Amino acid sequence: MKSVMYDKTDTVLVVGGGPAGLSAALIMGETGLPVVLVERDRILGGMLNRLFRRYPKGDNPRDLLNSLHHLLEVNPQITVLTETTVSAVTTQRGNFQVMTQNSGDRITREIEAGAVILATGLTLMDVSIYGEYGYGIYPGVITSLEFEERLQEESLKTDRNPSAVAFISCVGSRDRSRGNPYCSKICCMYTAKQAGLVRDLLPDARIYVFYIDCRICGKGYEEFVRDVIERKHVRYVRGRPAKVLPENGRLIVRAEDTLMGIPVEVAVDLVILAPAVVPHPETQELAQSFNVGTDVYGFLDHDQFPSAPRRVFTAGGCRYAVGIDEAIEQGMAAGGRAIALIRGKVRP
Ligand SMILES: Cc1cc2nc3c(=O)[nH]c(=O)nc-3n(C[C@H](O)[C@H](O)[C@H](O)COP(=O)(O)OP(=O)(O)OC[C@H]3O[C@@H](n4cnc5c(N)ncnc54)[C@H](O)[C@@H]3O)c2cc1C
Ligand code: SF4
Repeated sequence: MKSVMYDKTDTVLVVGGGPAGLSAALIMGETGLPVVLVERDRILGGMLNRLFRRYPKGDNPRDLLNSLHHLLEVNPQITVLTETTVSAVTTQRGNFQVMTQNSGDRITREIEAGAVILATGLTLMDVSIYGEYGYGIYPGVITSLEFEERLQEESLKTDRNPSAVAFISCVGSRDRSRGNPYCSKICCMYTAKQAGLVRDLLPDARIYVFYIDCRICGKGYEEFVRDVIERKHVRYVRGRPAKVLPENGRLIVRAEDTLMGIPVEVAVDLVILAPAVVPHPETQELAQSFNVGTDVYGFLDHDQFPSAPRRVFTAGGCRYAVGIDEAIEQGMAAGGRAIALIRGKVRP
């Protein structure tokens, strides 16, 4: 097993190469700080690799990723280590001694860092516990992320085009008994985006969105969802479905329309669930290694107040559900904090 040593104390370590981690690395690299970015996957980009289009503009997330990638490649200050995770952390002389492990070449590296940015992102809750929706049982029931991947593979338009599609939001969110009590913040918007994309691909399909509330605060968001409802003719039904049942090769979604006060039953070919956003399970261990707090759900949760004497900063979905633009803004803010800290430290 080979070992490599990075010994600059003005180096900043960034853990996670999604939009938050990439933007943090870029802003620090642009000011001349040495940055080491470690990413667990084989490629950088996090969720940007998995999404088909992004709200609210409808652009391809890979275009954004390509431009971030280009900026990264031309910056000699930034070292990228993919297929790499943090294996141990100690502190010495006010710096972090971080051991990393590469799962490909199996090289162990020791990085001495003056500051650390954690940007390990978000994932989705396992919704198979919601037996009433049949996820993992009926092949026609999938998650929103699986749906993005289907859109990327262009496998939605097949010989048997779905003639009706139902989206179910708040699965595992805002549910005190079996899921999480919090609102996952991004799913109202991405559900509207996905429903609109179904309309673009399947002009004759019937499209339903079962929702509890429409929580869409952001620039252009209201207009975006209105357009999906009014121009793209997606039917929004207020009510949490009680059950999804198979019938004659199709899926029956049963709910109560709580605005009309009537029971609703629709036959569809595809059901898309919007699961609660959760942090990656390993985030908890990483937080302990760097002495960062977590909330009861495992999201990183520590004082971001500028005067707090911190050397570890956090950004993006590992803190709580965020959209891509917010992840980038948080990444740049964390990068800015690290620049201020390191520059302050090296000033004579
Ligand atoms: C179904 C779905 C649709 C969405 N659609 C949109 C949309 O249309 N528009 C929009 O603005 N937002 C959308 N989002 C939200 C978007 O995905 C997030 O805003 C964004 O991914 C957050 O960026 P991030 O960098 O914080 O995390 P991520 O993109 O999750 O990146 C985190 C990175 O950290 C890496 N990592 C994790 N743990 C470790 C570790 N221990 N060591 C090293 N690396 C690690 C991961 O491999 C990953 O590369 C959607 C989300 C979902 C689930
Ligand atoms: S953002 Fe919308 S779909 Fe997601 S949990 Fe909140 S209310 Fe439910």
